Amino acid sequence: MDIRNTTSPVLVTGATGYVAGWVVKRLLEEGLTVHAAVRDPSRADRLRYLDDVAAQSSGSIRYFKSDLLEAGSYADAMRDCAVVFHTASPFVIDVADAQRDLIDPALLGTRNVLEEANRTPTVERVVVTSSCAAIYGDNADQRETKTGKFTEDDWNTSSSVDHQAYSYSKTLAEREAWKIADGQDRWRLVTVNPSLVLGPGLNPFATSESFTLIKQLADGTLKVGVPDVGMGIVDVRDVAEMHLQAGFNANARGRYITSGHNASFPLIAQALRDHFGDQFPFPKRTVPKWLLWLIGPFVDKRMTRKYVSRNVGLSWVADNSKGIRELGITYRPLAESAVEMLQQMIDSEALKPETG
Ligand code: NAP
Repeated sequence: MDIRNTTSPVLVTGATGYVAGWVVKRLLEEGLTVHAAVRDPSRADRLRYLDDVAAQSSGSIRYFKSDLLEAGSYADAMRDCAVVFHTASPFVIDVADAQRDLIDPALLGTRNVLEEANRTPTVERVVVTSSCAAIYGDNADQRETKTGKFTEDDWNTSSSVDHQAYSYSKTLAEREAWKIADGQDRWRLVTVNPSLVLGPGLNPFATSESFTLIKQLADGTLKVGVPDVGMGIVDVRDVAEMHLQAGFNANARGRYITSGHNASFPLIAQALRDHFGDQFPFPKRTVPKWLLWLIGPFVDKRMTRKYVSRNVGLSWVADNSKGIRELGITYRPLAESAVEMLQQMIDSEALKPETG
């Protein structure tokens, strides 16, 4: 499918999301008609930023009311679409009930959307926004890999409803996606598996967990130190580009690790300090593993001893070469993503510098 010859509309689920915003923008820039599935299309004020993006592009946008947990609610939005981008899934870490708040919407939502694709004869391709969280659960899992690096052949087998529930929700959802895709032969499934996404957002009301990390590094929450936990980082605009390639490139097949940098909490803090200096109380130290093991569970209920022992002090390395080789993806520098994200928070007065 050549994007330049596509006249059919395309569907983006969860169009109000942080990642989806840039996907929608890129699709509109390509002149496409985007069917934006959102929970509440009557909140025109919350969608104005997407209208503005559409007005500045050659494409057009239409809103549809859909909910992951409401069977059949994607039918109108998907009608006549050639490509479905399924991005909707809750990305929150601190939840009251992991089954209700994470696993059900991720898993049942994926089933809801992909079964609708089975009923919609125009659909040729479905792109699911999965995650590196469906590839690994804890950094310790890296020891079990064949090459010492995470690849698209790896699956997260260490998460559960009680341990890394968000990662578990993404794993169950992606497995379900492949099961449904393998049961038919009309449309092709391609999954985009991003690591932690950073970079400026388009939606002024965004709630993605991505914002929490940068905010906490700058607002003093982590002033005493950060845990030395390795993680992948990728820019939100590079993730959007991967979605377009996954949706339209004839070579796109299977899963794509979408991660620009094998990084860590301390490295992100360092990139921010290098740019913003002492304007914010960025952490300067790492908290020793033994101390986190001892007091972590009392400070933050997610910092369990199991989490500490299987993640702190351990690196994270992934092989991102498949997307580079097959789809020509390039990645922005980590500092650009982190700095522009914090700068956006400063400009919108969500964060105020201590000095200057
Ligand atoms: P986000 O801004 O919180 O977006 C999540 C989207 O899902 C929102 O549009 C939200 O709609 C929608 N949603 C949640 N529950 C829903 C429901 N019951 N019915 C319909 N829509 C629902 O988070 P994000 O960071 O952009 O995440 C988007 C996707 O990327 C997710 O699949 C996430 O797992 C994946 N991902 C994110 C990262 C990252 O670092 N950000 C990394 C890897 C993968 P409302 O606006 O109505 O709440």
